[in-house]
Amino acid sequence: MILILKKNISKSEAEELVARLQWMNLQSMLSEENGQFQIAIVSGEDARVHPQHFLNLPQVEEIRPFNQKFKLAGRELKSERSIIQIKDCQIGGEKLAVMAGPCSIESEEQMHTVASFVAKAGANILRGGAFKPRTSPYDFQGLGEEGLRYMKQAAEKNHLLSVSEVMDPHHLDLVASYVDILQIGARNMQNFSLLKEIGKTGKPILLKRGLSATYSEFLMAAEYILQTGNPNVILCERGIRTFEPYARNTLDIAAVPILHELSHLPVIVDPSHGTGIRKMVPPMAYAAVAAGADGIMVEVHPDPDRSYSDANQTISLETFSEMMNRIERMI
Ligand code: PEP
Ligand code: MN
Repeated sequence: MILILKKNISKSEAEELVARLQWMNLQSMLSEENGQFQIAIVSGEDARVHPQHFLNLPQVEEIRPFNQKFKLAGRELKSERSIIQIKDCQIGGEKLAVMAGPCSIESEEQMHTVASFVAKAGANILRGGAFKPRTSPYDFQGLGEEGLRYMKQAAEKNHLLSVSEVMDPHHLDLVASYVDILQIGARNMQNFSLLKEIGKTGKPILLKRGLSATYSEFLMAAEYILQTGNPNVILCERGIRTFEPYARNTLDIAAVPILHELSHLPVIVDPSHGTGIRKMVPPMAYAAVAAGADGIMVEVHPDPDRSYSDANQTISLETFSEMMNRIERMI
């Protein structure tokens, strides 16, 4: 339930109430909506949380039940869209967030070439995998820390933010020390212990939709991160498994307006994994922008056919630049 506090309640009074609720073992989150403090009680569906107990509190003006199960990701607690501020970049604000880079970080030179090119073409975030979730254990698994070092240098030199996937809780601090945004890949969307740990880093989290996750499951995964007190979650639609075998995945563009309706969190689209087909990446990126996505994530490589991973869906630097020109004309 949500306790809407009276208008004259100060932040410190609201914090005091949160502390008392937490002392009672009730997980509670403080937020502000329309200049009024409110406390979401997100745990403890038992007799202690009977609304009557709280209505009598002098600080409380009104009590609202949660109708949706995604309490923190949903719109009931926060009606306005969230804007995630990372250094001088905003995700969910006016400007489209463009994350571009290779599927895997392969070399220092590759990262510098890609970073300087995509920065000039209008990207603001460099992507690259250092710990790769590969279907086959015999495929390239990523350069690990060495790769993260290349990416950090290339990103900083070109005034880009950076994003990379974490698969193992043991690598959290390491990856967090190199990148601005931590990515949870589709295969780990429901790795609940990883979600709980990643939230605690306090870093912004890019959460990719699971291969066959419903919107509700996707938002409940976000809920695991938000519940740690980390509000900075970015949702990423990256295609789902359907009966259609032509494309690697079926990119669900409707996820953009639907997730925006259900949640205040920013929503981005990955047309690379979403289609698995190089030629389909630009049209689906345009579709994402037209649908109101807050950003896109695209795999780009100086020599796409030679990519160590996901070559078929990786676009060239030239294609990226043409795509960005068209996107700039759209927005
Ligand atoms: C990736 O972004 O490199 C990746 C592996 O994506 P996904 O988890 O969506 O398959
Ligand atoms: Mn990839």
